[in-house]
This record gives sequence, structure tokens and C-alpha cells, in this order.
Amino acid sequence: MLKYNEPLSGHTSFRIGGPAYCWVEPENTEGILEAVSLARSKNKKFIVVGKGTNLLAGDEGFDGVIIHLAGDFEKIEEEGEGEIKAGASLGLAKLVKYAFNKSLCGCEFLAGIPGCLGGAIFMNAGVRNPENQSESIEIKDILLGADVLDLKCGKIKALSKKDIDFKYRASGLDGKIILGARLGLKKGRKEDIQARISAFNKRRGWLAEIGFPNAGSVFKNPGADKPAGMLIESCGLKGKRIGDAEISKVHANIIVNLGGATAKDVLGLIDLARAGVKRKFGIKLELELKLI
Ligand SMILES: Cc1cc2nc3c(=O)[nH]c(=O)nc-3n(C[C@H](O)[C@H](O)[C@H](O)COP(=O)(O)OP(=O)(O)OC[C@H]3O[C@@H](n4cnc5c(N)ncnc54)[C@H](O)[C@@H]3O)c2cc1C
Repeated sequence: MLKYNEPLSGHTSFRIGGPAYCWVEPENTEGILEAVSLARSKNKKFIVVGKGTNLLAGDEGFDGVIIHLAGDFEKIEEEGEGEIKAGASLGLAKLVKYAFNKSLCGCEFLAGIPGCLGGAIFMNAGVRNPENQSESIEIKDILLGADVLDLKCGKIKALSKKDIDFKYRASGLDGKIILGARLGLKKGRKEDIQARISAFNKRRGWLAEIGFPNAGSVFKNPGADKPAGMLIESCGLKGKRIGDAEISKVHANIIVNLGGATAKDVLGLIDLARAGVKRKFGIKLELELKLI
């Protein structure tokens, strides 16, 4: 599928973003290579987008080709004992459900994260452990390896976990398209798996109170004892509004779109939060959100 002048507001959880020059949904590796060639032949940039749940797309749109994997990249199968092979475009909720049906445990923490597998690996998505708040669980903890298309050489590479430079909300996989991954899970009892999913969901219950389109955490936490939301709230910025964008009254590290917010409005709030936290705490907040 290929669409020109496709509004990105329809492909981001923020519901913000002007048109992309071209939106392509390749169903296999050949399709990706064709999309890359199309971009190169028109002298345009290209990027891969998953479910758009950690993105802020500009009001002027993206003058390039956006690749959204589909077809083969949505597949999932059990490979060996406890090993799951899944495509990058598989939604995390579907992954958790599949594992539950197979009585496999280890990926329950992904239940409430709205992205897809490729986006989660690229971002090293994770949550706090509800049983031990000082501990994080991240997708790297269950990843065995990932197949990527290296755009430098145009070749598919099977990377093992040790080849990937995972950090807090980063994978160092820039310049590579994640095609799929192998995850290592363990056999468990369905009751226990369900109980863990419920525990993670319960901890995230406050997210339902946000009530407006958003893209999750705007900034990375500068430290476990210094959550970005707490720092921004301490600057008195909770509820601060520019246009139709607002620093959420529920959690100060989330910006919401009250209806007609523009990327410019959101960027204005990002600047305010950064300036406030720098002034008061001397801390430079780093974006978790990706800008396109
Ligand atoms: C309500 C809400 C709650 C959230 N909670 C959490 C949370 O608890 N923990 C957490 O970590 N995140 C959370 N997020 C953020 C987001 O859901 C995760 O980062 C998710 O993993 C992003 O996946 P995606 O498919 O939406 O990626 P996108 O937002 O589409 O893309 C994110 C980045 O990944 C890159 N990318 C995507 N797919 C590929 C690919 N196949 N190959 C190479 N690069 C790729 C994109 O280019 C972009 O740079 C939340 C977001 C929302 C809206």
C-alpha cells in the first residue's frame, strides 16, 4: 500500500502531524527495499514508524517516505521451547495474548504499552517492576536476538542481544530497520501469568485518567530518584497550557492534546519544562519522545 500526502495525525497517538510525502506499507523485505529505492530516487529521507505512540510529527509534515511494516511483519510463531519469533509490526498486546495462550511467561510487563515490537525494541521499552519499584523490566531482558535490515549495506543481519547497545530507552539501532525478533520466555501457569498482567495493569491504572491523546512520557527520567514528572511538577508547570496542548494535570511528564493541539504548541511546552527544570534543579531533561 502506498499513499501520497498522507496526514500523520492519523498515525500518531498524539493525533498531531502534517502530511508525509509518501506513506508505504511493505509486506515483505523486497517491499521495504522498493520503498527505500523510491525515497532515494526522489532524493527524499525515509524513516520507519510503528504504531506512532512515542512520536511527535511536525505540523509541516514529513518530506520523505514513511515505512510502516505490515503483512509478514505481523506474524508470530513459537519456534522452540519457550522461544517466540515475531515480526516487528506485531502489536505488543497481541504478543502478550499469544504468550498467555501458550502458557509462556516473561512478557506480561508489555501488556499496557501501546506500541509494536519493532518500536519497543528500538526504544528499549520498559516499566517499573510492581513487586520492586526500584527495578525496571525492559524488552532487552527477554530479547534473544533481532533481524535487521542494515541500510548502510542493504543486507539483512541476524543480531544477537549482545550485538545491540541497549541503554535506558535506547537501542543504538539507528540506521537499521528492525524486521523481527526472537524472545526467550518460560513455561508458566496461566493463573500466574494473568495475575502478573493484572498487577502491571493495576499499576498503570492512572493512565486511564489522562483522558486525552498523548505519546506517553515526554522526557527520560534523569535518575530513578528524580522522575522527570516530579521535577516538572515542582516547577509549578502541571496543567500549563499552550494552545490546545497541556502538561497533563494527572502526570507532569505527559503532554496531552486537548483537541486541536499543534506540534508547535507541544514544542512550546517542552521548552518551558526544560527551561524550568534547568533553572530550578540544574538538570538538562532529555527527550524520550522522538520528533519527526
Ligand atoms: C499511553 C502510553 C503509555 C506508554 N507507556 C509506556 C511505558 O510504560 N514504557 C515505555 O517504554 N513506553 C511507553 N510508551 C511509549 C511507546 O508506547 C513505546 O516507546 C513503544 O515501544 C513505541 O512503539 P511504537 O510502535 O509506537 O513506535 P513508534 O512511536 O512508531 O516509533 C518509536 C521509534 O522507534 C522507531 N521504530 C519503530 N519501528 C521500528 C522498526 N521496525 N525498525 C527501526 N526503528 C523503528 C521509530 O523510527 C521511532 O524512532 C507509552 C505511550 C503511550 C501513548
